[in-house]
Amino acid sequence: MQFLPKPPTQKGREEWFTGDVYLDVIAKGEEPSRIRVNAVRFTPGARTAWHRHAVGQTLHVTDGLGLVQSRGEDVERMRAGDTVHTPAGEWHWHGADPEHHMTHLAMWESPGPDAGVPETEWGEHVTDEEYRADPQPG
Ligand code: MN
Repeated sequence: MQFLPKPPTQKGREEWFTGDVYLDVIAKGEEPSRIRVNAVRFTPGARTAWHRHAVGQTLHVTDGLGLVQSRGEDVERMRAGDTVHTPAGEWHWHGADPEHHMTHLAMWESPGPDAGVPETEWGEHVTDEEYRADPQPG
């Protein structure tokens, strides 16, 4: 066994996030492992842009109150203890509630070096109008 290095916390890139978001890489497998795990901390109001994952993604909320939405569906609340799966290729966003922090573990896989598609494909930012749509209880 080995203790892995702790890469510095990264600030979420402005083209991929709205507001202040901080990412810690927990696991990044080397082939043949394709595991990817990040701890992601969203400040109130912060969220991802619309995006999709080639092999899907599972989120596990460890702290706070968050929001999540898949394209064409309602905004839903998520909170500490919730685990939310997004299937491969489904456009979605996730982030903090407007008035609360939210931290989640984001778990996904690389599609592999020969797949010819990115792990994550990024789209438009989530507008304030989309973000402020009344969330359904999650
Ligand atoms: Mn995602």
